[in-house]
Amino acid sequence: MTGKTKVDYSGSRQKAIEQFRRRWRLAANIEKVDNAALHAGAPMYFYCRHCGLPTEMLPEDYVFPPITECSRCRGLRNEGWLEEAVRAAGE
Ligand SMILES: [Zn+2]
Repeated sequence: MTGKTKVDYSGSRQKAIEQFRRRWRLAANIEKVDNAALHAGAPMYFYCRHCGLPTEMLPEDYVFPPITECSRCRGLRNEGWLEEAVRAAGE
């Protein structure tokens, strides 16, 4: 061990990638809200740009930028596993 590995217990990479595949499949089956089609004053919906699951619902006049990446996908990206997870989900 070099001490640089953030997650070093075996299996966590496969587990995280499998969980990504499940999120990705789930997201493919949920109807996404088209914010542009909503009436004025309706809350806006935001989705993870990687897996596609909802991240936030904000008022139309939201002040702070929405979250565009869920914590689990951010974890994958931080570990350098995201590309592999995206590939696995597309198979
Ligand atoms: Zn995600």
